[in-house]
Amino acid sequence: MSAPRALLVATDLDATLLDHHDYSWAPAREALEALRAAGAHLCLVSSKTRAEMERLAAELPLPTSWIVENGSALVVPEEKLLPRRRPRKPGPRVVELGPRRSRLAGALPKLAHATGLRLESLVALGPERVAELSGLSLDGARLALQREYSEPFRVVDAFGLEPDAVTAKLQAAADTLSLRVSRGGRFHHLTGVVDKGLALARLIDLVATPKVPPQVVALGDAQNDLLLLQSAERAIVVPRPDGSLEPLLAALPHAERAPAPGPAGWNRAILAVLGGERLPSARG
Ligand SMILES: [Mg+2]
Repeated sequence: MSAPRALLVATDLDATLLDHHDYSWAPAREALEALRAAGAHLCLVSSKTRAEMERLAAELPLPTSWIVENGSALVVPEEKLLPRRRPRKPGPRVVELGPRRSRLAGALPKLAHATGLRLESLVALGPERVAELSGLSLDGARLALQREYSEPFRVVDAFGLEPDAVTAKLQAAADTLSLRVSRGGRFHHLTGVVDKGLALARLIDLVATPKVPPQVVALGDAQNDLLLLQSAERAIVVPRPDGSLEPLLAALPHAERAPAPGPAGWNRAILAVLGGERLPSARG
């Protein structure tokens, strides 16, 4: 009989593992501890910065890998790496997949000009205003603004366009600059042509051999989790705070649905995965 496959859980953070309002992961503690007991590999996948991920990862009850700034870079703890993938110097392995932020400088005004939308850089707004808009603490907002690979922004005036139409318009303009726009729960992000799914594939290559691929379960709630969910063997859509599902994600053919929004739903979904259960279909 072959050995059971290792489990790799790749999860979005905001409104998925973290509460949309207070950013707490506490309701997911039972499932996080169960993942640790099962020897599973947890990877945090988000538009967050390395500085934010570092702080969060230090709080969680198990070691994690991180995919930061929407797939722009990957950080893997040494003990999770295949021996031949370990860096020469002791410590985590950092893989940069996207261009550095200096290459994005100046792209946001071009995007605003090309789309006719009013866009505002969060970095230019500063931590006090970002804390107000996001509900982050002032300290949390400072970490969020330590961008290395992306330009977060908000659409100040969409001139009556629907959110999906705004994103499509922004992406069409970003294509001409060889850049990518993604939409998270609150803000948009401008990055190089990176994606969370490709970053996850790179992670798998660093931690597992093709002969024994892990079972990959991905969880997310927003449009910018689509490529992550599509790249996983099991995709679990976490409902938004109002209980609805992001339509793009609910349209994934085999996606399952977490039983509640945020970390409480995450907790129950992961306990179901570990118990060998399947969740209801996201398509209703
Ligand atoms: Mg999210």
